[in-house]
Amino acid sequence: MMAEYDEHRCDFCSGTVGAMVARHEPMRVDDKVVLLDGQIIGKCDRCGHRYYPAAVVKVAQRVAAHPEEAARHESIPVAAA
Ligand SMILES: [Zn+2]
Repeated sequence: MMAEYDEHRCDFCSGTVGAMVARHEPMRVDDKVVLLDGQIIGKCDRCGHRYYPAAVVKVAQRVAAHPEEAARHESIPVAAA
C-alpha cells in the first residue's frame, strides 16, 4: 500500500518531503512527548524535518491528554546535562 502523504517542498530547505511510516517517532505535544508508531508522516529528504498531518496531530493530542487511552506505554531514558 502506498503511503497517503502528498510530496511537497520543504519549508526550511530545498528538499522534498515524502511519506514515511513513523516508528517510535517522538512527537512533542505542548509540554508532553508521545511516540508515534505506524502513522504516515512526512519527512524531508534533506534536513529531516518531520511534518505531521492534521489527523496525526489530533491523535497525538488526544493520547497526550488521555494517556490511559494510549495503545501502550514505553519509558524513555533521559540524558540530562
Ligand atoms: Zn528540509
